[in-house]
Amino acid sequence: MVAAHTDVLVDVDDALASDEKQAVQAARTFRDVHVTPVADGIEVRRETAISTIRLASKYGLLGLQVGRTHGGSGLSTVAAARVYEEVAEGCFAHAFSLEVHNNIANLVSRRASQEAQDRWLPRLLSGDAIAAFCMTEPTAGSDAAAIQCKADRAGKDWVLNGEKAWVTNAAGADLFAVWAQTDAAAGWRGIAAFLVDREAEGLTVTDPYQLMGGHAMGTAGILLRDCRVPADDLISAPGEAFKVAMQGITSARIFVSAQCCGILKAGLERAIGYVSERKAFGQLVGSFQGLQWELVNVATQREAARLLAYRAAAAADKNLSATLEAAQAKKFATAAAVSGLVTCMQVMGARGFLIDSTIGRHLAAAKMAEYLDGTSEIQNVVIARSLFGGALD
Ligand SMILES: Cc1cc2nc3c(=O)[nH]c(=O)nc-3n(C[C@H](O)[C@H](O)[C@H](O)COP(=O)(O)OP(=O)(O)OC[C@H]3O[C@@H](n4cnc5c(N)ncnc54)[C@H](O)[C@@H]3O)c2cc1C
Repeated sequence: MVAAHTDVLVDVDDALASDEKQAVQAARTFRDVHVTPVADGIEVRRETAISTIRLASKYGLLGLQVGRTHGGSGLSTVAAARVYEEVAEGCFAHAFSLEVHNNIANLVSRRASQEAQDRWLPRLLSGDAIAAFCMTEPTAGSDAAAIQCKADRAGKDWVLNGEKAWVTNAAGADLFAVWAQTDAAAGWRGIAAFLVDREAEGLTVTDPYQLMGGHAMGTAGILLRDCRVPADDLISAPGEAFKVAMQGITSARIFVSAQCCGILKAGLERAIGYVSERKAFGQLVGSFQGLQWELVNVATQREAARLLAYRAAAAADKNLSATLEAAQAKKFATAAAVSGLVTCMQVMGARGFLIDSTIGRHLAAAKMAEYLDGTSEIQNVVIARSLFGGALD
C-alpha cells in the first residue's frame, strides 16, 4: 500500500526512542519469519500459537512493559501498542496471545511477592512459562464484579473453588492469574487476585472452544476444585484487585485497538493488490471509482482508529486515566475492522471468500475483538458514564 501522507504527518514511530524503534522492527521480523507464514495453517488445523509465542523471547518481545531492572524491555504503552499492531498485521490471534502473556508478566513484576517474582519472572521473560488472565466466568462476563469463583482462607494459604471461562492461552499456559471472590457481601471490594501454577492440584484446563476463528489463542475454560494457593501467591488483595484488573483492561483495550489497525492494514493491502490485477468488463476492477471509494473509506476509518488508539496510549503513558480514551478507541477500531474487512472481502469477489485470501481469518478476529476486554456495548457504558457524569444517578 502506498504510504498515506497522514502516516507522515502523525507518524507514531517518530516519537519513539531508538530502543523502541528497534522493538517495532523486531516485531516486524518476528511476524514475517514466524507468524504470517504459519497463521493460516494454524487456524485451519485449530492449533495454538504457544510455541511461537515462546519464540518471541528471542526477539525481545516478552516482558515488553516489564521494567528493565526486572529484565524486561520497559517499553511505553505507545511502543508496546506499535509492537502488537505489527504482529497483528500477520495474525491478530498471535498478537493477542502475546499481549495477554506480557500483561500478566507486567503484573507479576509489579505486584507479586519477591518469592513469586523469583519463581516466575525469569520463566515468563524467557518464554519457558506462558501466562493467562482469568476473570470471566460462565455466569459473569461484562459484569465482572459478579464473579463467583471463591477464595477461602485455609491457615496462611487460600483455597480456590469455581470455574473460569474464555481464558486466552489456557490450552498451553503454565501460569494463571485468577481473580476470585473472598467475601461475596463485599461485592467488587471482596475480589482478590492469585497466581496459580498449571501443575497445582485441583486445577483442570478444559478442552479449547471451537470458534469462528482465533484458535491460535488456545482459549479454554479452567476448573478450580479445592485448589490450594500459598499466601505468597496472592498478587492483589481484596479492595485493590478489582481496580488492578480494570487498569489492566484499559491497557488491553488500547492494544486491541492497535491490533485492529494492523489487521485492517493487512486486509487493505491484500484487497488493493487483488483489484490492481483483476480485470472485468475490459478494465482493472480497481479502476472503477465506486470500488476505489469503498477502499478509500476503509483507509480513512483506519487512520481515525489509529489516531484514537495512539491518543489513548499517549494518555496512559502520561499516567492520565485513559479509561475514556481507551473505550472510544476500542469501540471505534473494532467496528472499523469488522466493516472494513467485509469491504476488503467484497471487492475481491469470490476470491476474497477463500481461506487462502486470509481476509476471512482477519474478519473473524475483528469480530472476536468486539468481545475481548469488554464488548462494544460496555465501551458505550464507559463513554456514557463520562458523557452524563452523575446527572442520571
Ligand atoms: C476469544 C475470546 C477470548 C477471551 N479471552 C479472555 C481472557 O483471556 N480472560 C478473560 O477473563 N475473559 C476473556 N474473554 C471474555 C470476554 O472478556 C467476555 O466475552 C466479555 O467480557 C463479554 O462477556 P460475555 O461474553 O459473558 O457477555 P455477557 O456479559 O453475557 O453479555 C451479553 C450481551 O449483553 C450485552 N451487555 C451486557 N451488559 C450490558 C449493559 N450494561 N448494557 C448494554 N449491553 C450489555 C453485552 O455487550 C453482550 O452483547 C474472551 C472472550 C473471547 C470471545
